[in-house]
This record gives sequence, structure tokens and C-alpha cells, in this order.
Amino acid sequence: METIGREFKRVRFELQRRTVEVAHVERPTAGFVAVTFKGSDLQNFQSLGFDDHIKFIFTNASGETIKRDYTPRAFNTQNQELTIEFALHDQGDASDWARNTGPGEQAVIAGPKGSMIIPEDFDWHLLVADSSSLPAVARRLEELPLDVKTIVFIQVDHLENRRDFKRPSSTIIKWVESHEDLVDMVKEMHLPTGEGFIWAGGEHSAVLQIRTILLEKEHPKELMKVVAYWKKGAADFHEKI
Ligand SMILES: Cc1cc2nc3c(=O)[nH]c(=O)nc-3n(C[C@H](O)[C@H](O)[C@H](O)COP(=O)(O)OP(=O)(O)OC[C@H]3O[C@@H](n4cnc5c(N)ncnc54)[C@H](O)[C@@H]3O)c2cc1C
Repeated sequence: METIGREFKRVRFELQRRTVEVAHVERPTAGFVAVTFKGSDLQNFQSLGFDDHIKFIFTNASGETIKRDYTPRAFNTQNQELTIEFALHDQGDASDWARNTGPGEQAVIAGPKGSMIIPEDFDWHLLVADSSSLPAVARRLEELPLDVKTIVFIQVDHLENRRDFKRPSSTIIKWVESHEDLVDMVKEMHLPTGEGFIWAGGEHSAVLQIRTILLEKEHPKELMKVVAYWKKGAADFHEKI
């Protein structure tokens, strides 16, 4: 295990490819499909960070092999199960796969290659997400201690996709329908006093603007992690900003 800085830990894992099979499919809300995979290869699955990612490798409707990044939303090594939540969007091989899949379908999961463990003991946390990073934020909310002050801003295509989270009781959650409103919400907020950590993930241009606003608010860049989970007009895009 290698430590960078005082509090952040990076843990690396040997890269493994696991063959899995769809066990069951749920629709948490209209815009999301939660797929639970099973398979004996999952018995040693590890993911220590809420924003870890795996490569989801599957066959599209034309028979091509496709790879996309997804968050291990939940896993249970004893039951050899892993759940991924797919945000549905208009046109995309992974989104289409999730919309149409059912029990028995096979896929491959590679990774995670490692985890970045962001400490929990800050005075406050701000989490900013769109639909693509909502699964990571949902996992973070389940893992944070109950008494930590947490503010969450989430963009979903329709407010019908709002949901309840298992979360610290002091959490404030605000939902919006556009990336412009997500950026504006960050612009208009007053950051709480004390040392806080900010995590933002989502569409490339939106998270770039959010990072600029946070730096203008003089939030230290060491105390934020901003990641583009996708980019309008580009397939399979991933960039740490
Ligand atoms: C570290 C990481 C973790 C991620 N975890 C998740 C996760 O848990 N759940 C999840 O749903 N996504 C997650 N994503 C995002 C996901 O990998 C992308 O959305 C991916 O591009 C979807 O693949 P696709 O085949 O459906 O679309 P692609 O073939 O990649 O793209 C086709 C078109 O759809 C657009 N597009 C792609 N994604 C979206 C979107 N979310 N909304 C609207 N338009 C889009 C593209 O701009 C492109 O024009 C994660 C990404 C990263 C980098």
C-alpha cells in the first residue's frame, strides 16, 4: 500500500477479468437500470473506494465487443454478487445493453485496478454528480459516518429520477434537471467553514466549469477531486481534471 500526502491512500490490485452472469435486474427509477451479476469469479472481488471503476466488457447488438467504465455500486463476495447501476441515455452501447438485458446474459468485468481512499474525517463533504456519477455518490453516502455534514447536488434528466438514499442524517440533497443548473448551484453556494472535501463527477464541460468555480472560491485543489465521466458527443470518455 502506497500513501500519497497525509491522508489519502492508493491501493493497487492485480488486474483480474471476471466472467459474470446477470442474476437479476431492477429499475430504481425510470432512468436507471441496476444489474446484479453473479459468478464464482466474484469471490475475491475488491473495491475500497466509492469512486472505483471497473471495465464492463460486453457484446453489443452488432456482435462487437465493447468496453465501458462503470462503478461497483454494491458487492457481496460471500454471495458472489456485484451490482452496477446504469444511467440510461439516448444512444450508447452500454446503455442499450442495460435496457435490454435479463437473467442469464454473460459479460466480463475487469478490475478495479486500484482504489483511491478519500478520508471521511473532514468537517464537511460536498458531492456533485450527474446521472453517470449518481451510483458513486449513492455509495459514498452509504459509507460516510452518520454525523458528517454532507451537501449533495445531483443532476438527473427528469426529477422523477429523484430517490431516497441511505445517508448521514445531516445530509442536504438538491436535485436539478440540467447541467447548467448544476453549475449555477455550485456558483451560488457559500462553502461551509472548516476543512471540507469536494468530489465532483459527471459531464466533461460541466465538471470543468465546476472546478474553475471552486478554485475561484479559493477551495484548495488538494481538497477536491473532479472527474469527467463522459463527454457530449464522445464515446467512452474518462478524464481526471
Ligand atoms: C470512472 C467512471 C465511472 C463510471 N460509472 C458509471 C456508472 O456507475 N453508471 C453510469 O451510468 N455511468 C458511469 N460512467 C459513465 C459511462 O462510462 C459513460 O456514460 C459511457 O460513455 C456509457 O457508455 P455507452 O456505450 O452507453 O455510450 P457511449 O457509446 O460511450 O456514448 C454514446 C453517446 O452517448 C453520450 N453519452 C455517454 N454517456 C452519457 C450519459 N451518461 N448521459 C448522456 N449521454 C451520454 C456520449 O456523449 C455519446 O455521444 C462512469 C464513467 C467513469 C469514467
